[in-house]
Amino acid sequence: MTDTHAHYLIVGSSHAGREALAAIRMADPKGRLVMLSREGRMPYSPTILPYVASGRSQPDRVGLADAEWFTENAAELVLNAQVVAVDPAARAVRLADGRRWTYDKLLLATGAEPVVPPVKGLDRVRYHVLRTLDDALSIRERSTQARRAVVLGAGLVGMHAAETMAAAGLDVTMVEMRPHVLAEYFDPKASALIRQTFERHSVRMMMGRRLLWAMETVPGSCRLGLDDGTELEADLLLVAAGVRPAMAMLADSGITIDKGILVDDRMRTAAPGIWAAGDVAQARGFLTGVPVVNGTLPEAVEQGRIAGMDMASDPDLIPYGGGIPLNTYGFFGRHAMAVGTAAVPEGDGIETVTDEGNGQNGYCRIVLKDNRLIGLAAIDRVMDAGILWRLILRRTDLSPVRQQFLSHPLETARALMSRGWR
Ligand SMILES: Cc1cc2nc3c(=O)[nH]c(=O)nc-3n(C[C@H](O)[C@H](O)[C@H](O)COP(=O)(O)OP(=O)(O)OC[C@H]3O[C@@H](n4cnc5c(N)ncnc54)[C@H](O)[C@@H]3O)c2cc1C
Repeated sequence: MTDTHAHYLIVGSSHAGREALAAIRMADPKGRLVMLSREGRMPYSPTILPYVASGRSQPDRVGLADAEWFTENAAELVLNAQVVAVDPAARAVRLADGRRWTYDKLLLATGAEPVVPPVKGLDRVRYHVLRTLDDALSIRERSTQARRAVVLGAGLVGMHAAETMAAAGLDVTMVEMRPHVLAEYFDPKASALIRQTFERHSVRMMMGRRLLWAMETVPGSCRLGLDDGTELEADLLLVAAGVRPAMAMLADSGITIDKGILVDDRMRTAAPGIWAAGDVAQARGFLTGVPVVNGTLPEAVEQGRIAGMDMASDPDLIPYGGGIPLNTYGFFGRHAMAVGTAAVPEGDGIETVTDEGNGQNGYCRIVLKDNRLIGLAAIDRVMDAGILWRLILRRTDLSPVRQQFLSHPLETARALMSRGWR
């Protein structure tokens, strides 16, 4: 046994890795447990980064786990340890600096990394991405000198960042190639309501446009050309055009990958002794049964917990039931929520009921299939995402309470819960 051998080796120190570590320790207080992180910092949550970038949160307030937490859990954290190769046959990983760790059980919780689209000239201008604390600090530093910001991509990262930049006084333009903001989560009407709120706060929303070229004007600033001929000037360019699972270390490893690392309902990969969880994993989707990468925080937590329990052979493990997307999203003092497949159009057995609240009382769209809830999106309505998530998970037949559910979804779901779920 060497000092670079761990019974449990976790790669990645964010939500999935942290949850796995805690779950392992619940079942096995003894086996050597080591977490490797490519960063030189203590673990933190990426979700808070837009607030660090805008200056609203301090970098020391975003921690997920401190040194004391690792001591309490009898676990070691190794920083500046970037895994570049995995050798399943030797049960070993290699780090960028040549070090090698061996393991009995390995969890890959390496998350996702930003995708930068192949735009002419983009590699010759200064642009930012937002996934790490260093990224956020670099945006923050640039914001103090910038007046005009352009955000490429209207997904969650871009929307959060645009809002905080606008609140910090920058002149913000968003460019999105799809016709709607947050199109993965919200239907076009809900997206339009969110977009209008941004416009009311002076964020310029350029939807359905594609960035074609970028060119430096003065050092740090650039001119951007869109496919409709529009030209924009930016002192700060944020590329938030999506993410992809961070799995480059698996090239030549023989581990089965598709869009992410393919895992079963215990988060096991095809290689013995190797698990994967969180944004890097591709696990069963609840509604379709097809494996999907569901890159959200609640999924990373759930998958990390299951992986940790299975690694430590916890007898209480309940295998993964499949991923159901869930997002709660606050913007400019308003509140939106989407659970399940809330953005799908009507048809193919899918029924949708929309309540626009006479323009006064928020917005709600319910999506049913065979009288079972499969998705719900709401803006400025009191909702409990957890209860609705559970209603989807239980595939509850809503026929007996259909009208009641369509007019009062949350109250009806609560009543069903207290009657039948105990
Ligand atoms: C700005 C922003 C806002 C977001 N907002 C929301 C939100 O509102 N709601 C929501 O549900 N989700 C949100 N997300 C997504 C959410 O943060 C992720 O789903 C979640 O962090 C995934 O956790 P994870 O542990 O799988 O991966 P990550 O959080 O990506 O962490 C992976 C870790 O692995 C490390 N790592 C990667 N490769 C290696 C390697 N080769 N060797 C060693 N270490 C490595 C990384 O440094 C990182 O610490 C947001 C993300 C961002 C960036």
